[in-house]
Amino acid sequence: MSEQLEAYYGLPREIRFCKRCVMSNQRPSSYPEFKHTKDRITPTLHIDEDGVCDACRYAEKKEQIDWAAREKELEMLLERFRRNDGRYDCIVPGSGGKDSAYAAHLLKYKYDMHPLTVTWPPILYTDYGWQNFRNWIEVGGFDNISFRPNGRAHKLLTRLSIENLLHPFQTFILGQKNLAPKIALQYDIPLIFYGEPEAEYGNPIAETNSSLRDKSYYAMSNLAEISLGGVKAQELMDRYGLSLNEISPYFPADYRDLERKEIAVHYLGYYIKWTPQEAYYYAVEHTGFKARPFRTEGTYSKYNSIDDKIDDLHYYTTFIKFGLGRASYDASQEIRNKHLTREEGVALVKRFDGEVPQRYFEEVMEYLEIEPERFHALCEQARSPHLWVKENGQWRLRHPVWEA
Ligand SMILES: [Zn+2]
Repeated sequence: MSEQLEAYYGLPREIRFCKRCVMSNQRPSSYPEFKHTKDRITPTLHIDEDGVCDACRYAEKKEQIDWAAREKELEMLLERFRRNDGRYDCIVPGSGGKDSAYAAHLLKYKYDMHPLTVTWPPILYTDYGWQNFRNWIEVGGFDNISFRPNGRAHKLLTRLSIENLLHPFQTFILGQKNLAPKIALQYDIPLIFYGEPEAEYGNPIAETNSSLRDKSYYAMSNLAEISLGGVKAQELMDRYGLSLNEISPYFPADYRDLERKEIAVHYLGYYIKWTPQEAYYYAVEHTGFKARPFRTEGTYSKYNSIDDKIDDLHYYTTFIKFGLGRASYDASQEIRNKHLTREEGVALVKRFDGEVPQRYFEEVMEYLEIEPERFHALCEQARSPHLWVKENGQWRLRHPVWEA
């Protein structure tokens, strides 16, 4: 009967899990965040006829890549752009996580570049996140520009993203993707380096054939294509009393400006083999990075994405919307990197996925001025019938990975 059940968000009705990791075909691919509306339909993780997902295929492909040749390519690129006259030659965006710490440190100390680190801060820093950010700059030794957006607009837009999209992390993602290209324009810095390609997590595998992030993720050509918190830019101005000045920090850079100045966004993970656990060890050793002594709610891990108090809520909402919580993401990555077996991953997902985050919940609701009951009501509405069934007042996944 399951074919008859409605699927929200344009998700595939038939739920399939990858045979190797614990991801399903319900995971949406990355999408230009500034175009995210209620009725958007995005492609989701592709699983091939052998039952293997694109992210696992890429993990396989990574083993075949000639990494020495890729490093040569990197050296040639850096050679063309390296500056020794005091100007910055590259940007590393980050808020203090292990991956940006690793990227910036390699570029400066191994490849003799002059990086500027650029930070769009978390919505609400955790203590560990704040300390890791400070250590990145102070222990690691980097110049940094942090941009803090207007708090009033920030709160309103974050609230709208929850009300309309159940997406508490949207304002952070917007800044994290869009700020660096705009700083690059201002300071005339030609290169931007992010760490891992999104394809490591299941974007179409074809994206891994290039070191470049596609411009559609971080460039715009006109105001009409912009939505924030699921609301068109024009409507934010007409109905919500925000001015163009107040919402423009969330916009991507203009296509034409980026083309004219030949600014490009690269993945360092294209040139050097990227393993989250190794980035973690490296950051501990070189930039004073610290894991939290306690596990993150909704998963078993202690060092992935621990900067923002809203992060736990973010993964809770992916569990509600797609049936995939934080343990599913963490375990899949670790299975691909051979740090876990699939069996162990399944057990971790069963145990931790979808755990209701309590630690920062009240503080986050207070900050956003949302009643906790309202948030829970939004979660109720967001559960797609093809994923969820309510039995004796309890929600249950129809097709959990441990029964697949
Ligand atoms: Zn997989």
